[in-house]
Amino acid sequence: MSFQNPVFIPGPTNMPEAVRLACYMPTIDHRSPIFGTILHPCLDGVRRVLKSESAHIFIFPSTGTGGWETAMTNTLSAGDKVLAARNGMFSHRWIDMCQRHHLDVQVVETPWGQGIPADKYEEILKADTAHTIKVVLATHNETATGVKSDIAAVRRALDAAGHPAMLFVDGVSSIGSMDFRFDEWGIDVAVTGSQKGFMLPAGLAIVGFSDKAIAAGKTAGLPRTFFDVTDMQKGYNNNAFPYTPPVGLMNGLKLALEMIEAEGLENVFTRHTRIATGVRHAVDAWGLKLCAASPDLYSDSVSAILTPEGFNATDIVTRADNVYGVAFGVGLGEVAGKAFRIGHLGSLTDVMVLSGLATAEMCMVDLGMDIKLGSGVAAAQEYYRTTAKT
Ligand SMILES: *Cc1c(COP(=O)(O)O)cnc(C)c1O
Repeated sequence: MSFQNPVFIPGPTNMPEAVRLACYMPTIDHRSPIFGTILHPCLDGVRRVLKSESAHIFIFPSTGTGGWETAMTNTLSAGDKVLAARNGMFSHRWIDMCQRHHLDVQVVETPWGQGIPADKYEEILKADTAHTIKVVLATHNETATGVKSDIAAVRRALDAAGHPAMLFVDGVSSIGSMDFRFDEWGIDVAVTGSQKGFMLPAGLAIVGFSDKAIAAGKTAGLPRTFFDVTDMQKGYNNNAFPYTPPVGLMNGLKLALEMIEAEGLENVFTRHTRIATGVRHAVDAWGLKLCAASPDLYSDSVSAILTPEGFNATDIVTRADNVYGVAFGVGLGEVAGKAFRIGHLGSLTDVMVLSGLATAEMCMVDLGMDIKLGSGVAAAQEYYRTTAKT
């Protein structure tokens, strides 16, 4: 693997040089007020990226998966009922985590390539007149299939049923790269990590809690220690953590947030949409299809591309790595071998993406697929050329 090439995996994403350098800092006393000058801008910046006025933000030394655990253990008790849709590997893993925590998960099996069926959620919530369902889970962007779900529609389903369940949203591969509205969508817990939209190495779980989710902690019986948000809040009140914080990563997060806000959050989203659209033009030109079943579901942070029947999509990823030193994502779970993924989130330019598309083309031609070199690149070039800022 050549370290000169960008990566096209949907996390960890490419790091801007300045962010990388910000992570690399001398040791400070993490119980001194200096740490507060890193901590508080991080909390405030994340809150703004979530589009929330009042969410309680917590940052743990962990990854997105630890964010899921933070959500569950701080709000629920063993045996509590949770409603979730399984439409890809990440929603599957969240469900699995709930089950291992002895939660009672009602799973809505959903074809991979489809979004969360909000109408089905509504039906189930309406039928739950005793309000036994405590939490509704929603994976905003299924990174395995490149499918974006409509969280506003999930909120409408809860409202239409007049159901008081909390809404937990996995935004690990959407927050910071796709529009996310904590307050407007009535979200109770949002989960993300450092290594996707925030352009950092893995190492931070980042969560937002509503007042209602915080209040649920008073009666939540699941054991929690490391991920206890109450302990964490006490720490924050003294510019500290209950244990040793990953200061360098948080200093990187502070800068990443400044960069996102300097570009403008909406401009960041527009850039992701534009870059993703170019990738989709390339896929079209190749005569291939996305795993996402319809345009309303297309993710702006990752594209899962289906290869023809009988072809092993993983070969493209292996060849890109071995021969060209470029990383793409393999298909996961049900789409293993059937799809490969181009991650296009975080720190990316038109030029970087064109290099990824060119590499994918070389691999596909090398492997005997019926694709014309330059076809996808040309389609993306034409789109980027005609939509570039002048
Ligand atoms: C990456 C990802 C996760 C897992 O995050 P880790 O940081 O690898 O623990 C969870 N959900 C989604 C949607 C993801 O893309």
